[in-house]
Parts: sequence; structure tokens; C-alpha cells
Amino acid sequence: MRVLGIETSCDETGLAVYDHERGLLAHRLFTQIDLHQAYGGVVPEIASREHVVKIVPLVRETLAAAGLRVGDLDGVAYTAGPGLAGALLVGAALARALAWALEIPSIGVHHMEGHLLAPLLEANAPKPPFVALLVSGGHTQLIDVQAIGAYELLGDTLDDAAGEAFDKTAKMLGLPYPGGPHLARLAASGRAGRFRFARPMCDRPGLDFSFSGLKTQVLLAWQKSDQSEQTKADLALGFEEAVTETIAIKCERALQQTGARTLIVAGGVGANQALRALLADLGRRHRFQVAFPRHEFCTDNGAMIAFAGALRLAAGHTDHGTLNVVPRWPLADLERV
Ligand code: ATP
Ligand code: FE
Ligand code: MG
Repeated sequence: MRVLGIETSCDETGLAVYDHERGLLAHRLFTQIDLHQAYGGVVPEIASREHVVKIVPLVRETLAAAGLRVGDLDGVAYTAGPGLAGALLVGAALARALAWALEIPSIGVHHMEGHLLAPLLEANAPKPPFVALLVSGGHTQLIDVQAIGAYELLGDTLDDAAGEAFDKTAKMLGLPYPGGPHLARLAASGRAGRFRFARPMCDRPGLDFSFSGLKTQVLLAWQKSDQSEQTKADLALGFEEAVTETIAIKCERALQQTGARTLIVAGGVGANQALRALLADLGRRHRFQVAFPRHEFCTDNGAMIAFAGALRLAAGHTDHGTLNVVPRWPLADLERV
């Protein structure tokens, strides 16, 4: 079964073809970062319009790269939510139109299920049960995964998501949008031990997170400092250490609590090298498996949507009724595959 995957939930147009037997055949991404940079964040109307411009040429490119014609497709998967309604509608409308014209099934995919399953696109993919850590621009969640589609929320952020905390802190330090990767790069030249920030909510039991206080701590330290480039790097490192150690502590707790032997990591902050190193070390110490997506599949992409959609289509799930997108959609509402 060859499934076209379409991702348009935010500011990246992502396309891919996943084949049940042969794996990922091709994927293409167009990122709108340059367009939104001037505004310091994603402008929904601009995002929708740019998806409209880019999506059909990207479908053509992706099919050509896979060596397929549109008639070779057996199904179409698209991100149905959560995300920006107007942006989601571009992918959903194209997917449903293609499926209708080709007389093949379509399936609306949950964007976070896409992220969550991205590590399973790699060799030696783990099988459930496992604990999933979702750390993206809009989410920071620990999920108990008993089966594909059976997701129980163990912990969530009470305020900013991990990626959001990176982006807001980076913005405060004058770094370009989205600041996460820039801040991480700056942290690499920071000096350890100069700034130590709190590990929020680690002094009490539970698996929830809270990152909004950290950026204030960084801001206060920056205002009191000499504001040199070295200080900026030292602050970036202090911030990165606080976020990544907090996440690692909660992952350790989640594995203890559930008895799971596998941790899977997904979402844009999963690309962070310091976090990857901490979690890999945790796995070595406790002898559990830790699985990450390849770098390019940590942030938004079409491959994760094609893959999640292929799993669901193969299990007989399909769209019915009218075209619909779901800007807010809890992961726990999904059906087991
Ligand atoms: P969601 O999936 O929750 O709707 P999103 O799609 O915007 O949000 P992703 O595309 O998964 O999120 O990830 C983007 C986020 O990841 C941004 O906040 C970005 O700054 C952050 N990020 C990317 N690379 C790194 C890195 N190396 N270190 C820290 N943060 C990073
Ligand atoms: Fe995302
Ligand atoms: Mg993004």
C-alpha cells in the first residue's frame, strides 16, 4: 500500500510517500521560516496562502522522486489537527480532492501521533509498550503507549511547551526566530557552572512540567550582567541545562512509574543534542532502549504523516463524512489501531 502523506499544520509544507512493504519512498519539505521571521512568529494567514502556492508542485516533486505517478497511490493521509485551521484546510482539501478523484481512501491524521511515531521510521524500530516523550513547539507531554493509538497522558506542561520556552528565551536574547536551534548552537560555546537555574517542578512528585518561569530567570540574569557575547552563551547553556535535565528527570520517573523498558522521543526539541545525550545516558544507566527520529523528522514533516496514515489505513480506518479539520484534539481521543 502506497500512501501519500501531507503535512500543513503550521509553517512547513511536508510531503512524503510511504510504502507498507518498501518503507519511505520519498519526502520533500518546504519551510516558510524566512517568510515569518520578520514577524518573530508564525502569521496564520501568510502560512495558509504559502501552503496553497507550494503544495501542488511539492506533490509532483515527491511523486517524481518516488518514481510514481499519481495513479499509483493507494491512499492519502493528511494532518487533520491540531494546528492552524486555515493551514490544515489546505492539506485536508487537497488530500480529500485527490482521494475522491482517484477513488482511493483518505485518512485524517493527528499531528502529534505523527510526531510520536516518527522514531518508528528508523531501523530496529521499537514496539509498544513504551513511554513517549513529545517535546515540540506546542507540546511537552509524557505518554504511556500500550499500543499504536492507545495513548494515556502521564504528564503535560502547565504553561509553555519546551520548544516555546527555547524560542521565547532565544528571542529575549536577540536571536532570530525560531530560536531553539540558535540558542542550542550558542549554548555550545557557553561555560558550564556560570549560571544555574532551577529545575522546575522536580522537587515534588508527578510528571508535569512548567517552563515559563525559566525565561524570567534568564531575563533577570541577563539584565544584571555585562551583556557580553560570552555571557549570552553562558546563559544559553544554563537555560539549556535546566530544560534538558528537567525533561530527563521526568522521563526517568515515567519509566519507573510505568515499568516500561523503552522510551521514544519526538518533536522538534528532540533534535537537541544535549537532550539526546542525557536521555541516551539515562538509557545506558537503567538499561532501557531509547529511540529518536532522524534529525529531519524531529520537526514537522510529511514522512511521519504518511507513516501514521499508512498504519491506520492498513487497519481499515478511513475518513467518512464531510471535509473536517480539528484545531484542538487530545491525543487520548484516538482509536486504537
Ligand atoms: P507542535 O508539533 O506541538 O504543534 P511544532 O510543530 O511547531 O509544534 P516542531 O516542528 O515539532 O513543533 O518543533 C519546533 C520546535 O522545536 C521549535 O520550538 C524549535 O525552536 C524547537 N527546536 C528545533 N531544534 C531544536 C534544538 N536543536 N534545540 C532546541 N529546540 C529546538
Ligand atoms: Fe509539530
Ligand atoms: Mg515548525
